[in-house]
Amino acid sequence: DNEANIISGALQLTNKSVEDVMTKIEDVFMLDVNTVLDFEKMTEIMHQGYTRIPVYDGEKTNIISLLNTKDLALIDPDDKTPLSTVCKFYDHRPLFVDYDLRLDAMLQTFLQGNSHMAIVQKLHNTDDQDPYFETLGVITLEDVIEEILQSEIVDE
Ligand code: ADP
Repeated sequence: DNEANIISGALQLTNKSVEDVMTKIEDVFMLDVNTVLDFEKMTEIMHQGYTRIPVYDGEKTNIISLLNTKDLALIDPDDKTPLSTVCKFYDHRPLFVDYDLRLDAMLQTFLQGNSHMAIVQKLHNTDDQDPYFETLGVITLEDVIEEILQSEIVDE
């Protein structure tokens, strides 16, 4: 039954990693830090419907900030505010986690507050080149809760 499923889902958290349940980087709606917040852009952002949007500089794998769509509430599209100004003002530092992090540990981190989204990275460290991080995707508290409930949460 339902309760047994939830308990089983909770017990399975230690067997799964953030990589298993994340949203892959190619499916993530992100914004370039050089974006200008004019009417068209703000309409597009609102239509996407996401609460949190990673902000990148240069390449999509170089995520430097998070935009909360509520940060846009006081922005006048006629001002054509640069996204970088909003990012500097609110300064939401993204939380970065290793792709191998278990979901029970991810849940603990999310429950401690601060952020309900994390950027999933993989460290490449070989002898023949400098170590670098590969950005694989994003994970939110909702992704972890869906694993516990073992069912999709239908968005509002
Ligand atoms: P929201 O509050 O924006 O609906 P949730 O945290 O409820 O986001 O997550 C719902 C699903 O959407 C999750 O699978 C999550 O990984 C994904 N998600 C969240 N933000 C984004 C984004 N900016 N681009 C793509 N997928 C996202």
